[in-house]
Amino acid sequence: MSSDRNGRLVVLSGPTACGKSTIWRRLVAHPQISFSVSATTRSPRGGEIDGRDYRFVSAGEFSHLIEQGAFLEWAEVHGNRYGTLRSDVKGKVDGGLDVLLEIDVQGARQLSDCGIPSLSIFITPPSLDELRKRLEERGTEGKEERERRLAIVEEELSQAESYDHVIVNDDLDRALSEIESILGLEPVS
Ligand code: 5GP
Repeated sequence: MSSDRNGRLVVLSGPTACGKSTIWRRLVAHPQISFSVSATTRSPRGGEIDGRDYRFVSAGEFSHLIEQGAFLEWAEVHGNRYGTLRSDVKGKVDGGLDVLLEIDVQGARQLSDCGIPSLSIFITPPSLDELRKRLEERGTEGKEERERRLAIVEEELSQAESYDHVIVNDDLDRALSEIESILGLEPVS
C-alpha cells in the first residue's frame, strides 16, 4: 500500500485473558491496519500458526536476534521471551500502514522513545473475578500457569494510566467500536 503519510504504531496491552487477541483479530480486518507478528520462545498453543500468530523460535535463536539488534523492543513475560521485530514494522509504517503491536507493559514502555509516532490502548477486564473465569474457560493453560499469569495482573493493571486510552472489555462489540473510533476507522461489515 502506498501513501503520502507515514503510519504509526498502535500499541495494545492488557492482562492475560482480557480479550486482546479477539480484538486484534477483528482490527486487522481493516485494510490500513497490519499486525506485527512477534517472535517468541513460548510453544504454540492449539490452533496457533507459526508466522500468523507468532514466529516461534528457540531460546538460542531469540538470543541471536537480540545480539543482532533485530528487536524494536523485547521482554520476558510469564517465563518466556517475546519481541517485536524491526523488520516487521519499519517498511509498513513507511508505507502508510498503522502497525498493531499486541505487547506487554514492559515492551510498551520501551517504545516511548523509538522515534515512530505511536498511540497506546490498554484493555481491562470488567473485574478480576471475570478475568479468572475467562482464563479458566479458555482452558489453554494448566492451573500452575494460570496462577503465574494471575499473579502479575494487578501490577499490569497499575500501568493502565500511562496509556493514551483505557478500554473496559465488558462487551466485545462496544470495546471494538470504541477502539475503531479512537483510530478513526470505519466499521468493517
Ligand atoms: P501470550 O503467551 O498469552 O500469547 O502472551 C503473553 C504476553 O506477552 C501478553 O501480555 C502479550 O501482550 C505479550 N507479548 C506478545 N508479544 C509481545 C512482544 O512482541 N513484546 C512484548 N513485550 N510482549 C509481547
